[in-house]
Amino acid sequence: MTDRIQAPRGTYDVLPDQAAARAALEAHAREVLEAAGYERIETPVFEHTELFSRGVGESTDVVQKEMYTFSDGGGRSLTLRPEGTAAVCRAYAEHGMHKLAQPVKLWYLGQFFRYERAQAGRYRQFWQVGAEALGSDDPAVDAESILLLATLLGDLGARGVQVRVSSLGRVEARAVYREALQAHLRAHEERLSEEVRARIDLNPLRAFDSDHPGTREVMRDAPLLRDFLEADDAAHFAEVLALLDAADVAYEVDPTLVRGLDYYARTVFEVHSTELGAQSALGGGGRYDGLVAQIGGPPTPGMGWAAGIERILLAGGTPPHAAPPVDLLVAGPAGPLQFKLAVDARHAGLRAQVDLGGRSRKGVLKQANRLHARYVAWMDDDGHAQLKDMDSGEQQEVAVDAIVRDVLRGPGL
Ligand code: AMP
Repeated sequence: MTDRIQAPRGTYDVLPDQAAARAALEAHAREVLEAAGYERIETPVFEHTELFSRGVGESTDVVQKEMYTFSDGGGRSLTLRPEGTAAVCRAYAEHGMHKLAQPVKLWYLGQFFRYERAQAGRYRQFWQVGAEALGSDDPAVDAESILLLATLLGDLGARGVQVRVSSLGRVEARAVYREALQAHLRAHEERLSEEVRARIDLNPLRAFDSDHPGTREVMRDAPLLRDFLEADDAAHFAEVLALLDAADVAYEVDPTLVRGLDYYARTVFEVHSTELGAQSALGGGGRYDGLVAQIGGPPTPGMGWAAGIERILLAGGTPPHAAPPVDLLVAGPAGPLQFKLAVDARHAGLRAQVDLGGRSRKGVLKQANRLHARYVAWMDDDGHAQLKDMDSGEQQEVAVDAIVRDVLRGPGL
């Protein structure tokens, strides 16, 4: 026996019965984001590795451990995209979008790749919907961005949604804070987990994320970034919160919020669901004013978020959707006639299918019920046709060229 080949660990197939929910989710995201002036962008699935090492940051878990990196036939180092923001910034700079009216507002939906420990809600190939606004540092951009994700998740019916916001300040204030935090961690080094201890120099902020009991205790009286914010960053954050209040967005200020990527400055936020287990984040994002310049573009402020499609679905965030009805199922022994009738029906705007199973009359009716077909046309070899209205059960002998007209006219024959 030959081994049956399976999908790689951490990946999954989207089967037809799940595709309708995902399509409905995408349609809904398009509606909400395009109504707010965001336009669709698609970037390649792989990019130069440098985009992520420079953009996302060398010290992050994503770049250190989670990237699918390979060399192509020309010896270039390429990486399957682990996130969307860096590529949108690259495209903004590459296509001179700074010359357009600012801010430029873009949204995307697609697959992303991270070599992570696969578990419920965490995959190695996953889908994200994201929105980015580039070219303005107005706090209204931050508030609108957060509001859009909260609205989208709320409208989709995701359960137990909680919004957490914070401000990281700018790089300079963070450097001062970082030193204060490192001093605190070093003072209590023996109580920290090995992992946190190993990262005191490289990424001390991640200590806030730790589940380790000793570390959590030490972090309880760690210095907080908000006490280090410069006056204008604090004012910017206060304005973002005031706008969220004005829009009635429920949120919690969480001064320990750290995002896994290096490019954030000022506002950061995450949306969680109480319905999900360990992987409770539905989405997150923030302001990344230095990122476009970091990858060689003009200095440009930016703000955005990404949310995980699988997690939204797990939290019950699926708009109502129904398989579209079949208007006409064409069956019977007369091959070419059936084929032609289905083609004519489609030209007339009907959803028509030819029964391809070679089924008996009884089998065809069963199939019609399965498909929720409104009408069944049975075509005999001798050019006779019967049309059955599946709702009323009424059946009539009809002329072949009257069938499309009858189905278009609707109930009753
Ligand atoms: P991040 O930018 O890493 O915070 O990712 C944004 C959102 O994408 C998260 O809140 C998750 O909903 C989703 N996400 C991130 N990584 C994964 C993964 N490995 N599998 C499934 N969803 C993910």
